[in-house]
Amino acid sequence: MVRAVAPSIESIYGDVVRRNPGEEEFHQAVREVLDSLAPVLARHPEYTEMKMIERICEPERQIIFRVPWTDDRGEVQINRGFRVEFNSALGPYKGGLRFHPSVYLGIVKFLGFEQVFKNALTGMPIGGGKGGADFDPKGRSEGEVMRFCQSFMTELYRHLGEHTDVPAGDIGVGGREIGYLFGQYKRITNRYESGVLTGKGLAWGGARVRTEATGYGATFFASEMLAAHGTSLEGRTVVVSGAGNVALYAVQKATQLGARVIACSDSGGYVVDEGGLDLEVLQHVKEVQRGRLSEYADRVPSARHVAGGSVWDVPCAVAIPSATQNELDGDAAARLVRNGCIAVSEGANMPSTPEALEVFRAAGTAFGPGKAANAGGVATSALEMQQNASRDSWTFEHTEARLQQIMHDVYARCSEAAEEYGSPGDLVVGANVAGFLRVAEAMHAHGLV
Ligand code: GLU
Repeated sequence: MVRAVAPSIESIYGDVVRRNPGEEEFHQAVREVLDSLAPVLARHPEYTEMKMIERICEPERQIIFRVPWTDDRGEVQINRGFRVEFNSALGPYKGGLRFHPSVYLGIVKFLGFEQVFKNALTGMPIGGGKGGADFDPKGRSEGEVMRFCQSFMTELYRHLGEHTDVPAGDIGVGGREIGYLFGQYKRITNRYESGVLTGKGLAWGGARVRTEATGYGATFFASEMLAAHGTSLEGRTVVVSGAGNVALYAVQKATQLGARVIACSDSGGYVVDEGGLDLEVLQHVKEVQRGRLSEYADRVPSARHVAGGSVWDVPCAVAIPSATQNELDGDAAARLVRNGCIAVSEGANMPSTPEALEVFRAAGTAFGPGKAANAGGVATSALEMQQNASRDSWTFEHTEARLQQIMHDVYARCSEAAEEYGSPGDLVVGANVAGFLRVAEAMHAHGLV
C-alpha cells in the first residue's frame, strides 16, 4: 500500500489558517496546542495515520443563524447567532454562550476549540462546543434582553438536547439569560428537560456552586501551583482582572484562603484597595446595579480608581486574569514578573497573548493556562447535569468539595503529562497533551467519524 508522507505539524497549521481565513483567535488557539503535540505524534504514529489533529481542528458542525427582535422603541434589530459543535467524542457538546459585540465565527471557534481540551481535562463525560451572538446586552432593558434570548432560542432549540448539546453562560450570559433561554426551550418543546442547559437558577434545576465555580476553581488551581512550589496563597497579594462572574468569585475564594486581593478591573479602568477588596460592595455595584467600578471607589474610602490604564501595573504575587482573551500582553507580563509575580492562573479563556506566555516561561513563573485553570466552571456544569439526571440536589459543601477535588485532578493530569512528554513543570504543554490524548483515544475507538 502506498502511504502519503505524514504532514508536519507546520503544514497542518498552514492548512488550518488557509481553511479558516481571518479567524485570528482560532489560529492562535490552534497554534498553541499544535506546538505541544510533536512528542505525542512521535509516540503515537496511528494518530498521524488517522489524521487525528486535522480532524480535531475541524468542528463537527457549525451553525450560523439570524436573530431578529424588536427593541423598546419598536425598531427591528438583527443579530447573528452561532453554535459551533466542535467535538462529541467524550459526551454531548458542552460549553457556554457569549453575548458580546465582538463575537464572530473566529471567537466562537477559538472558544469551542479550547473547550474540547478543557472538558477532556475535567475527566468528565462532556464534549466541546461554544456559541453566542454579536448582541450587546449593555444598556438594554430587561424586556429587550428577554426578547433577544427568546428569538435566539427559537432557532437554536432544534440543535440542543440533554444528550446532544448543552449550552451554559459565558461573557454576557448569566442566570437571567439562562432563565429566558430555558423558558423558551421548554415552551417550544413542551418538555421540562433540565439537563439541556446549565447555570440554571437554584429554584428550577440549578446546582449549588455553579455560579461561584469558575472563580473558585481558578483560585484552587493557583493554590495547587503554589503548593507544588512549597507555598500557599496565605498572606499573598493577588490581582484579579475583570469584575464579572469569574473575577468576583476568584476574589471571594482567594480572600477566604488568606490572600489579600488588592485590585480588579472593568472596561473603564481598575480599582486598587491595599487593605483588600470588599466583596459585598463589589457584588452590589457589579451584580445588583450592573454599574461601573468607579462607583466602588465612590463608596469605599480606602480605594482608588484609575481610569484607563492596566491593572497589571499593580504589583502582586499572584495574578488571576479573568476578563477576556488577549487582555495580558508581553509588556504586561514583563511588568508582572518585574514586580515579583510568582504565579498566574487564567480565569478567562486565553487571556495571555503568546508573547506573554513566552515571558512567563522564560521567567519560570508558575502558569496555569485557562483550559486547565478555569475548568471548574464547566466541571460544575457537568455536576449540574449529573444532579439533573438523578433528580437530585447536593449541598454547597459537598459540591464545593467535588470541585476542589476536580481541580486537584486537573492539575495532576497536566503536571504528569508535562513530565511524561518531556516538559516538566510546563502546564501549557501538559494541558494540551493530556486533553488531546483523552479526546484522541475516544475518537480512535469510534473509528473514522
Ligand atoms: N463558559 C464557561 C467556560 O468557558 C462554562 C461553560 C459551561 O459551563 O458549559 O468553560
